Amino acid sequence: MLTRFLFPIITILSLVWPASGPSSAVRNRVEPAALPESEQVEFSVEFFPGSPHYVGDVLSARITYTGEGDMGGQEIQIALADEPEQVLDTASFSRFTNQAIFYWFLNTENSRPGHLRFTLEIPETNEKWGTGLNLLPNPDWREGAWDSVHTLCCTLHYITGTDSANDLLKLQQIVDERSAEALAQFFPDDPPDVSFFEEPLGVVLVPIVVGHGGFARDEAVMTYTERNWAGIDFEILVHHEIVHVIDRRVNTEGPRPSLLVEGIAVYYSGGHYRQGDPMLRAAALLEMDMYLPLTEITDDFYAAQHEIGYMQAAALVAYLEGILGREGYLDFYFNLPEGESPTAIISAGLEAYLGMDLAAVETEFITYLETLEPDDGIKDDVRLTVAVYDMLRRYQTIVFPSAHFRTAWWPPIEPMREAGIVGDYAFREKSPFDIIIENLFLEIHTSFETGDYLLIENNLAIIDDYLTTIETGNRPFSHYAIGWPLPKLPALPPHPGR
Ligand SMILES: [Zn+2]
Repeated sequence: MLTRFLFPIITILSLVWPASGPSSAVRNRVEPAALPESEQVEFSVEFFPGSPHYVGDVLSARITYTGEGDMGGQEIQIALADEPEQVLDTASFSRFTNQAIFYWFLNTENSRPGHLRFTLEIPETNEKWGTGLNLLPNPDWREGAWDSVHTLCCTLHYITGTDSANDLLKLQQIVDERSAEALAQFFPDDPPDVSFFEEPLGVVLVPIVVGHGGFARDEAVMTYTERNWAGIDFEILVHHEIVHVIDRRVNTEGPRPSLLVEGIAVYYSGGHYRQGDPMLRAAALLEMDMYLPLTEITDDFYAAQHEIGYMQAAALVAYLEGILGREGYLDFYFNLPEGESPTAIISAGLEAYLGMDLAAVETEFITYLETLEPDDGIKDDVRLTVAVYDMLRRYQTIVFPSAHFRTAWWPPIEPMREAGIVGDYAFREKSPFDIIIENLFLEIHTSFETGDYLLIENNLAIIDDYLTTIETGNRPFSHYAIGWPLPKLPALPPHPGR
């Protein structure tokens, strides 16, 4: 992630600060966060917000242990290299992720531009090593602060100066409408008013793409920008994330297997990314041999091909609701027994309501899907949706790993609002390379609306070519490396004006 900015940074720094600070060997290191001592290769360090870093950034760092041992619970400390005795922050390695995170450990407001060196230390094992980053002068164009507005259902948090601030009235209306619809889905008999929740639902709008453009914890966080290269219909996304939030608030006790959690969110919101009939889309997957057995994906749902898993999950929920009715389905879903795996949990619930386990229900589900006849448009849409998001994640993996949903940097937002920190969600500087790739994705998303599947295929081939050039040639992420392709300009008449 850092390497694409390296050349300009190195050039600037070697011109401006030729002899100060650490040796030029350190400054010219290809990966500024790389670890100088060989015995620490088992740790990788990422700084956030992502590079390029500027004076004024409030820095966080994520340390990932990639070795074989068990780091769970071990403490790690970070200090400025020239003040090693003064520990800036202490964090512990998670037993699940083998990562330790220093959240907002240093405000660089008063730092000088140049190479900022840190010392990392694991006191228990006496391991100690250095790392660092290049800090550019404070830019005067980075503005923006958290602000919020209350609607009937929700508190909408946004960052001033962004597209969401411009479209605020429209967005307020959308969240109220979609929350009312979602509540009516969860309480079909007697839908409560949108002010049902004593605590308003928190909706956070950010201008950068993280993951596929939305995620939910206690609050729903989603991308809102006119250039949303993840291409998700905003109303569907709002609905999807609000379903997750209501789901969590209604069912605080029982197990909620991911297959059913995502299935209900996609089904209730009307589609995944875009409007679409869940059954026909699952039938299309089956017909094109892209169907993934539920019995194989349920226990590690997020590891399965993302779009296929979500489309099938929505179809399963729609199928079960067709049998049990809406209330019957919600009753089943909110009363799942505890079990040792998601498959065991769902199977036990299905046994109680239908007298069959998941495998038996799936056999009947597939038999039903086989009776459907999705047309060519649906099949093209489904096949290309899978291909496009695979490509989008490939782009994220090699260019913005912190945007890929499996390795995403999505720090908790509430403490950021309290501390007035916006950087992690407000700014992501784009190079011409990023703009070129993202333009191709933007064209693709528009073409899904118009059914221009040929253009989608073409743009996918172009992106594939560019990413392959970068990957196989070990080249920097630069528009030079891919031949600086310019958009085609319309031919001008030979004598303008005549
Ligand atoms: Zn979801």
